[in-house]
Amino acid sequence: MTESNEALSAAARWDLHCHTRFSDGTYTPTELVKQAKELGLQGVAITDHDTYAGWDEVAHAAKQYDFPVIRGSEITAYDMHTSVHMLAYLYDPENEVMIDLFASTRQARLKRTQQMVEAIAKDYPITWDSVLAQVGEGEKTTVGRPHIADALVQAGVYGNRSQAFDGICSSSSQYYLPTPSPSTHEVIRCVHAAGGVVVVAHAGAIARNAELLSDAQIETLIAEGLDGLEIWHRDNDQAQRQRLSRIARDHHLIMTGGSDWHGKGKPNLLGENTAPGIVAAAIAERGILPLL
Ligand SMILES: [Zn+2]
Ligand SMILES: [Zn+2]
Repeated sequence: MTESNEALSAAARWDLHCHTRFSDGTYTPTELVKQAKELGLQGVAITDHDTYAGWDEVAHAAKQYDFPVIRGSEITAYDMHTSVHMLAYLYDPENEVMIDLFASTRQARLKRTQQMVEAIAKDYPITWDSVLAQVGEGEKTTVGRPHIADALVQAGVYGNRSQAFDGICSSSSQYYLPTPSPSTHEVIRCVHAAGGVVVVAHAGAIARNAELLSDAQIETLIAEGLDGLEIWHRDNDQAQRQRLSRIARDHHLIMTGGSDWHGKGKPNLLGENTAPGIVAAAIAERGILPLL
């Protein structure tokens, strides 16, 4: 990357949380880089859910547009009763430990979806094959509830996907099984084993969880080596930002921010929340991979 000093300065603005078509975003990694540059940001991170499948394309785009990029992923984990999203930056994707982590999660999720389909198929006209037929060509995300919903629509049980999500596919449905995920402790261990940097995403997102991570739970993760907390995110309200900032300052953690951009998939606007370039520099200093 060029102009490194400027891009990594306190005045530079980085969006450190962005999704592309490699998970549930609607744009390609190339479009992410292009739009971030046009917007006047100084850098972005790609953080698709539970995958690094977009990294090759984003590396190409970073070069093409001469624009700084941090490679990352957003890993879904659990901690007691709380679903926790963890941003993993600049880890070695070829490290066995990470390969195993992603593979075993995918395997467990596939099995869970099959079990849900088996139960639904006893009462409704869908099959495993009719669910698999809903998975788009080349799609790299794991088959899950959206595909069951689409199969139910195709079978004429519902008029559209959201009706299916209000009914059989809802998390309160009798057919629902929770998504298998690694624990927060496992994610920290694996990402660090692969030389990466781990940050808890939107830990103050009240709407996502009945129970947020407590200060004590976060402090346990810090003792295990947690690198940072995402502070500037639309789902962290003012009080939560203050709580998380206080914990981060007390323990000298990296404080990050990002839009959680999904293209047209969510209202979040690219660059609506950012972190200064010095934060990108701190991530780069700890990660085993370089900035692009
Ligand atoms: Zn998230
Ligand atoms: Zn996200």
